Amino acid sequence: MHAIAERASEYSHPAFMDAAHTAAAPYLTVVIPVLNEAENLPILAERLTDALEKLGRTYEIIIIDDGSRDASFTILTDLARTNPHLRVVRLRRNFGQTAAFSAGFDRARGEVVVTLDADLQNDPADIGMLLERIDAGYDVVSGWRAHRQDPFLNRRLPSIIANWIISRVTGVHLHDFGCSLKAYRTEVLSEIRLYGELHRFIPAIASWQGVAVTELPVHHAPRQFGKSKYGIGRTLRVILDLITIRFLLSYGTRPMQIFGLFGLILSGLGMLTGVYLTYTKLVYNESIGNRPLLLLAVLLIVVGMQLISMGLVGELVVRTYYETQSKPIYVVREEIGGEASS
Ligand code: UDP
Ligand code: MG
Repeated sequence: MHAIAERASEYSHPAFMDAAHTAAAPYLTVVIPVLNEAENLPILAERLTDALEKLGRTYEIIIIDDGSRDASFTILTDLARTNPHLRVVRLRRNFGQTAAFSAGFDRARGEVVVTLDADLQNDPADIGMLLERIDAGYDVVSGWRAHRQDPFLNRRLPSIIANWIISRVTGVHLHDFGCSLKAYRTEVLSEIRLYGELHRFIPAIASWQGVAVTELPVHHAPRQFGKSKYGIGRTLRVILDLITIRFLLSYGTRPMQIFGLFGLILSGLGMLTGVYLTYTKLVYNESIGNRPLLLLAVLLIVVGMQLISMGLVGELVVRTYYETQSKPIYVVREEIGGEASS
């Protein structure tokens, strides 16, 4: 609860005090990224309002126009005029879905944030189901498109493989990291900075904080209007992001431990090879100048030293990162007694 209070005070900063923010904070914030979804938006708004009104909880909708070049923004402006719950944020250009989510999270005032796609592939009627799980005590509820309506070869198959690898590497076992329909307790999001294609890894990053993550089968419809913004190329980018995540989760605060280890092993091997070559030269008087092994020894030592220096530079970067932002290297759940309550 502390984190929420802190966020609320953050938003009472004059820069954030526009009309939408003077009202009491709602329970739920729905965040939706939009890139060229003109035909979908009116239907989306209608279904969303239907679903949200049924829940009987206070809510706000934040739609991020991520640099659309069709009529999306005009349509959103019209919708916002008649719908007091709707807030539209227009980015200057296309920054990508992760950045769009991030813009939404920064503005979310609800206790719970739900994300979904604007293309009607996710069903707003599922939101209630996710919220029940949040009520049951989970911090992150991830949708699982159990009957995914996308082409098999270039979408579902790569996704199955990617999800398997991501589960393996992160240790968070979900069937469908890529599903946008997810619900989060807001304080979980406030600890997370997003880059690259990282939005799909939020459950994995969050689990590092020690929060409870679960998944829930949700509906999925084929795309009717507009085009998918992604192709097979995304799989590669996701895999690269995965390497980053794995690194940050295990060695983010101690890069020397991994770079230094490999550096020591490599330069150690190089030195041993060098000692062996010197020995044959001195004792048996063999010529070693034209031996491939000599090249290998030099290579191993140089690369090893480089890795060790990279580890050292990494340590400096980490210190700068945490200390300039006064960022703790831990996450507190709650504090009781003593000075904590004052
Ligand atoms: N999107 C976005 N910025 C982008 C790409 C996509 O805001 O650079 C939005 C898009 O409008 C949609 C959601 O992200 O609401 C998911 O995109 P899409 O449906 O193309 O992905 P898919 O469902 O095919 O994986
Ligand atoms: Mg889609």
